Formats: sequence, C-alpha cells, structure tokens
Amino acid sequence: MGLKNLIVKGRNYIADHLSKSSLEKAIKRRQIKSNQKNEKLIILGCGWGSYSFLKNLNTTKYDVVVISPRNHFLFTPLLTSSAVGTLEFRSIAEPIRTTRDINDFKYIQASVTSIDPNNNSIMVKSTFHNEKPFEMKFDKLVIGVGSRNNTFGIKGVEENANFLKELNHAREIRQKIIECFERASLPDISNEERERLLSFVIVGGGATGVEFTSELNDFFNEDLSRLFPFVPVNDVKIILLEASGKILSTFDQKLVKKALINFRKSGIDVRTHSSVKEVLKDYVVLNNGDKIPYGLLVWSTGIGQHPLVKNSSFEKDSHDRIIVDDHLRVKNYQNIFGFGDCANVETKNYPPTAQVASQSAVYLAKEFNNLEKLNPNPPKPFVFKFLGLLAYTGNKSGIMETNFFDLSGFIGFITWRSAYLTRLGSLRSKIQVPFDWTRTLIFGRDISSF
Ligand code: FAD
Ligand code: MG
Repeated sequence: MGLKNLIVKGRNYIADHLSKSSLEKAIKRRQIKSNQKNEKLIILGCGWGSYSFLKNLNTTKYDVVVISPRNHFLFTPLLTSSAVGTLEFRSIAEPIRTTRDINDFKYIQASVTSIDPNNNSIMVKSTFHNEKPFEMKFDKLVIGVGSRNNTFGIKGVEENANFLKELNHAREIRQKIIECFERASLPDISNEERERLLSFVIVGGGATGVEFTSELNDFFNEDLSRLFPFVPVNDVKIILLEASGKILSTFDQKLVKKALINFRKSGIDVRTHSSVKEVLKDYVVLNNGDKIPYGLLVWSTGIGQHPLVKNSSFEKDSHDRIIVDDHLRVKNYQNIFGFGDCANVETKNYPPTAQVASQSAVYLAKEFNNLEKLNPNPPKPFVFKFLGLLAYTGNKSGIMETNFFDLSGFIGFITWRSAYLTRLGSLRSKIQVPFDWTRTLIFGRDISSF
C-alpha cells in the first residue's frame, strides 16, 4: 500500500511539475511574441524537410504557420516494413501537433494550390471541403512539399497499381495482400485465378522496390504457413521488374550481387530489361509483349514533381525541381526558401533523399536562428554530407555503403536497423519500433488484425 501511494504521489508530482513549467514557458513565449511585431513565416509540408526545420527553428521571432494536407511526419525508410506488418503504422508516424510546444506554431490542414512570389501570397485549399481556395500572406516562405509518384504516363498505372509513399498506401497494400490470400483460399476458385492472386509484382528495382520485395518475401517465409496453412508457400510468386539492366543502381554492384544471391535462394524472380507498357486490372503487359497476371502490383519507379512546383513561376532544373542557391534561397527571391525532393541546389544535383532533405532543413533552421542574433555570424553555404546508403535485402540481411567501408549480410541488417532507430523522430517511436520488432520476432506478423 505504502509503495502504491508513493508511486501515485511521485507521478502526480512529475505531472504537476511538467505542466507548470511548460505552462510558464508557454506564457513567457506568448508574452515575448505579443510584445513584438513578428514576421509571418509559412512552412509548406511536414515531411523530412519541413518537420526537421520546424523542430530546429527558434520560433520566438516568427509567427509560424505550418500548412500540410497530411497532419503527421512519416518515417519513410520504414514504410515498407509497415506495409507487411513488421511494424505498426503508428510507430513510424509522428503527429505534427506534438512536434513541439503547440504555442510555438499554428497548423492548418490544407494544400497550397499556388504561390504568387511577387505579392508574397499563397492560395490555400482546405482538405475538408471543396470550397474555393483562400489567400494567405507571408513575409517568409519555406517550401518542402516533396514529390509525387512517377508513372511516366504509362497507361493503367494510376488506376490499377498500388503506390508506396504514404501511410494510407501501406495500409491499402496490407489489405490487398490479405485479400489475395483470403480469396485464394475460397473453395470454388479456379486454378488460373488462384495463380493470379498469388502472384505479387513489384515494378522498380530501386531501394524502395527492393526493400518491399524483401519484406514481402520475409512475410511469406515466416508467417504464411501459420496464417494460411492451405496455401503452400511455393505457390506464391514474387516478380521484381526493372526497366534498366540492374537493380539498386545507386549501390556498388558488388554489394548488389550479394543481395541477389539471397533473392535467388528465395525464388524471387528478378527481371531486368523489363519495362512496363500497360497495367490492366488483372495483368501487366511488358514492352516485349509478355503478360504477367498479378494479385497485387506495387509501383515504385522513382519520383516525379509536385504540380504546385511544376505550375509555379520559379526557375526549375531539368527534373522540374525548384532551383535554389547554396543558402537554399529560391532563385531571384530573398524571402522564399526550398529544400527536399522539390528543390535542388544549383550546380549540385543532390539526390532526392531523406538525408538531403533533413540536412538542408537543419542547416536552414540554423541560418534563420543565427540571423536573429544581435551580431550574426556571416552566413555559410549549405554542404551536404553523405552518410552512406543502406538497404534491407531480406532474410535478416542488409547492405550498407559509405565513403570508407561496405557492409553486407547480418551485420548489414543490424546496422540498417540501428541506423534508423537512432534517426526516428521521437522517444515514443524509439520505444515503439523496437517493441514491434520484438513482437514480430516472437509472435510473427498478423496483417489480418488492425
Ligand atoms: P516529404 O517527406 O515527402 O514531405 C512532403 C510534405 O509536403 C508532406 O507533409 C506532404 O503532405 C506535404 N504536401 C504535399 N503537397 C502539399 C501542398 N500542396 N501544400 C502543402 N503541403 C503539401 N530516403 C532516404 O534518405 N533513405 C531511405 O531509406 C528512404 N527510404 C524511402 C522509402 C520510401 C517508401 C519512400 C517513399 C521514400 C524513401 N526515401 C528515403 C526518400 C525520402 O522519403 C524523401 O526523399 C523525403 O521524404 C523528402 O523529404 P521532403 O520533405 O522533401 O518531402
Ligand atoms: Mg518537407
């Protein structure tokens, strides 16, 4: 009884103390803000760029507004894991409203439909209704709207394929996988239809395509016989289609060979030089005329540009990305900034990765904070530091490439997991992700329960 009382008292003390000190801080911040005329800083998006920017910004000198149709930050490197239930969805998403003290910024759930850089204004459309966009004015604008899936205009992709970029995509994929197996288990199904339902096609041999293939294969090998004992794992096919001559083209091909050995052992059918001509409801047609029936087709062929960026009046590079200088200022404007997938530093051609987006954002936040000082340091240009490439290649193996060393196999897998664990956005996810990994290890994945 004594111990129980002590625990309750302790918990109340901590809760009181925390709320009192955060309330005091919030009141102080509000007082500072109301005593000065702040600049209005609008941040677009809450992905790898904008989320890191918001976290690192000193918000006392600005009235900060974040506008994004998605109300959470998504830890994309682990999205493929959540699509097959190795991780739960909530473990890799971070609500924007709890990123930092809610008095530090305002959040508006909406999309920006156009930018008028000469009048410092944007048009904003709510996600909740279909009314006309409204105008908002800014003193400073930070653009981090990311990219879109690239379909290359190939017929039927938009209608029939599944993408893997957002949380709802992972959710749809999970549901479709389970549906394929439930349908394939129906007693009145024809052999041909059953074969189709058990055929999983992934288009695109980049890191995302390969990691999803690996996760899917793990799921089939480790959990299928437990969940669907009447579906022999040998009846299930995974086909990875790549238009060019090699998969994981950004990696050292010696490392990729090791990954491919793993894939072959698992019976994954990797087809290079296989470009897709059209995607129909039940099968995909290749340029060479081959038809491949599928139950699920995941499209992961790289990125295209966001319409907001495409239609903007900013100068763009050959990939349609907004050109920014090495201080991340949009070309010809002093008060508009861009980073992440939607922008590129002139003459640099940085890759569209989370690494680049978050480093750019941390740099820009520091520059903003520095300028607020009485005697600011002279501004330094942004330089990207390459931290290495990582990919999960299935069956508890991974590959890692850095400027100094390469890793593969189990040690690659451990490094892959540790690297992402340290980069997760919050303490909550840092607890939840290892919890999910342990749960999966002990009890297996169960994608039929949500
Ligand atoms: P995003 O993170 O995409 O964020 C864009 C934000 O803008 C979102 O919040 C979105 O809702 C918002 N937005 C969209 N439209 C509007 C609008 N009209 N108005 C306002 N806001 C808008 N990179 C790595 O470095 N390592 C990896 O392992 C890795 N794995 C990946 C795995 C997957 C499955 C995917 C899809 C990507 C992966 N990437 C990885 C790439 C990485 O996720 C991107 O490069 C990164 O997300 C880019 O950050 P960003 O801030 O530019 O855009
Ligand atoms: Mg962003």
